[in-house]
Amino acid sequence: MSDIIQLLPDHVANQIAAGEVVQRPASVVKELLENAIDANATEIKLIIKDAGKTLVQVIDNGKGMSVTDARLSFERHATSKIKAAEDLFQLNTKGFRGEALASIAAIAHVELKTKQATDDLGTTIVIEGSEVKSQEVSVTPTGTSVGVKNLFFNIPARRNFLKSDTVELRHITDEFHRVALAHPNIAFSFYHNGSDLFNVPQENYRQRVVHIFGSKTNEKLVPVEEETEVLKISGFVGKPEYSKKTKSEQFFFVNQRFIKSPYLNHAIKSAFEGLLKDGYHPSYFLNLTVDPKTIDINIHPTKTEIKFDDEHTLYAILRSAVKHSLGQFNIAPVLDFEHQSSLNTPYDYRDKKASTPAIEVDRSFNPFAEDFGGSKPKTTSHNTGFKSAPTASWESLYVGLESKGNNSETDYSQVTFESESKNESIFNDSSIETKKTTFQLQQKYIVSTLKSGMLVIDQNRAHQRILYENFLKHITIKEATSQQLLFPLQLHFTPNETKIIDDLKNDLEHTGFVFSELSEKEIVITGVPVGVPESEVSIILEQLISDVENDVPDTNFSAADLLAKSMAKSLAIKNGQSLNSTEQEHMVNSLFACKEPNVSPTNRPTFITMAVDDIEKKFM
Ligand code: ADP
Ligand code: MG
Repeated sequence: MSDIIQLLPDHVANQIAAGEVVQRPASVVKELLENAIDANATEIKLIIKDAGKTLVQVIDNGKGMSVTDARLSFERHATSKIKAAEDLFQLNTKGFRGEALASIAAIAHVELKTKQATDDLGTTIVIEGSEVKSQEVSVTPTGTSVGVKNLFFNIPARRNFLKSDTVELRHITDEFHRVALAHPNIAFSFYHNGSDLFNVPQENYRQRVVHIFGSKTNEKLVPVEEETEVLKISGFVGKPEYSKKTKSEQFFFVNQRFIKSPYLNHAIKSAFEGLLKDGYHPSYFLNLTVDPKTIDINIHPTKTEIKFDDEHTLYAILRSAVKHSLGQFNIAPVLDFEHQSSLNTPYDYRDKKASTPAIEVDRSFNPFAEDFGGSKPKTTSHNTGFKSAPTASWESLYVGLESKGNNSETDYSQVTFESESKNESIFNDSSIETKKTTFQLQQKYIVSTLKSGMLVIDQNRAHQRILYENFLKHITIKEATSQQLLFPLQLHFTPNETKIIDDLKNDLEHTGFVFSELSEKEIVITGVPVGVPESEVSIILEQLISDVENDVPDTNFSAADLLAKSMAKSLAIKNGQSLNSTEQEHMVNSLFACKEPNVSPTNRPTFITMAVDDIEKKFM
């Protein structure tokens, strides 16, 4: 039998490799920016057209390439960055696989212009689908320009797979932010379809963070500095009261490389323990410097994950450094920092039998009530909350645990809180009236009688349904009922976030919002939907942004529906809120006046019924 194994031709191998390296225009942006940084550029310009689908170009003033290198740079495994396998353990550069340019050239039209400082003339090379179309001597400034046109021109399936310009641009912007944040000593500019999205000089880290996230960021930042033998940490965490509903301000850089690490993220969250509201995430911009020998960045083709030799130690150092900063800047209660064990009480407590009637938990205590009192909660309110009232501080321990709820490992914390309340009387509302037809159970359910038995309504879900239908009606009928604010409300968001709000502006106005300004500098709101407290406005918008980001607007995306759902979620009465009997009855009536009373906007049951028959069976 004849031999059947063949070596793949280079252009095929390159296309396959490209599948791994280049997922979307943002991947090209990342690779090109990293090459420019590795070439020691001090000024980098990013130019894109149609969210990178038509053009991605990066121009740098780095060291450039010789004629031979320019040609070689497009070969697979062509790299100037490692020479032997040992070099892999000493990496100080971003790239090292020598795959990016070869991969990109396999699936796009590429034009490279480059010149070294010592040469008078440079080189221009044009490659299309791995095929060199031309190579010429040319006049070009010192440095390199790589232009990538018509990405995926020869792989229609991949091209069709690309998302809308809005989504692709968001990916590019994210990538750009990461690189720009990691390199404040480099000046960056960024243009999309001819307009200037971003322009920053060489500056210090604080200035860079503020440039990217807006001038209001400055007052949020708490410096974190720590140097140990294994790890150097520098950067900032956001003050707890500025924590966000989105994770859009969480950045770890390890040796100036953006990485994602749920484990280290957890270290930060635990340093914030007790300081964050439920569902909120701390902001952080932290640079970690470690010996390159102790990490392995080669485990992921797009290199956002890193393996550390000793994660446990890093975790501990990071956690204590952040705690220390929060304590030093008088953000965390002193008690919290000095007696760490006190924070563990709830964990221990969880395992005990519920025999603690001595402790009185204020059931109507809403830990966030004071924060909702104004759009910007003050640091001091957190402090006094912990220091002056011992009972309050005890409860706050639970608050902290609750806020960690979405982390798998700590999910049980919520359970602790719930089981706690079950030890109390079922009728925890002291003002029970005799003739009422509804009552509230666990400050969570509304119980009512039916002819055939009993009805139990989930107050939060029911209220979401009521609000949802109401908002949807306003949005579709386009009749706004607005209440004017006494003082205009100024809010600040990142450009990406502003874009999301801008996209939904019409729908938001139909619910009753009135915007007097909506720009990247600020958003000014002069009117809000009737019944929406002013203090909730920023929460509503943040929730909305987070929902849009998580539910990436795609084909079957209805902006109106998402907006109505999101607002309903933000404004619905929460579990744990007590309702008087009028409110309870009103809730029951409004729910059953809905078109679809059975389910919440996210399709979960709003109520259950129990027939007398079933109850009777239970007594047999
Ligand atoms: P890698 O970055 O992994 O080495 P690339 O395919 O991205 O692989 O680049 C191949 C080589 O081309 C690099 O090692 C570098 O020598 C050269 N190169 C690429 N971009 C630039 C640039 N902007 N300036 C100077 N040299 C560059
Ligand atoms: Mg590279």
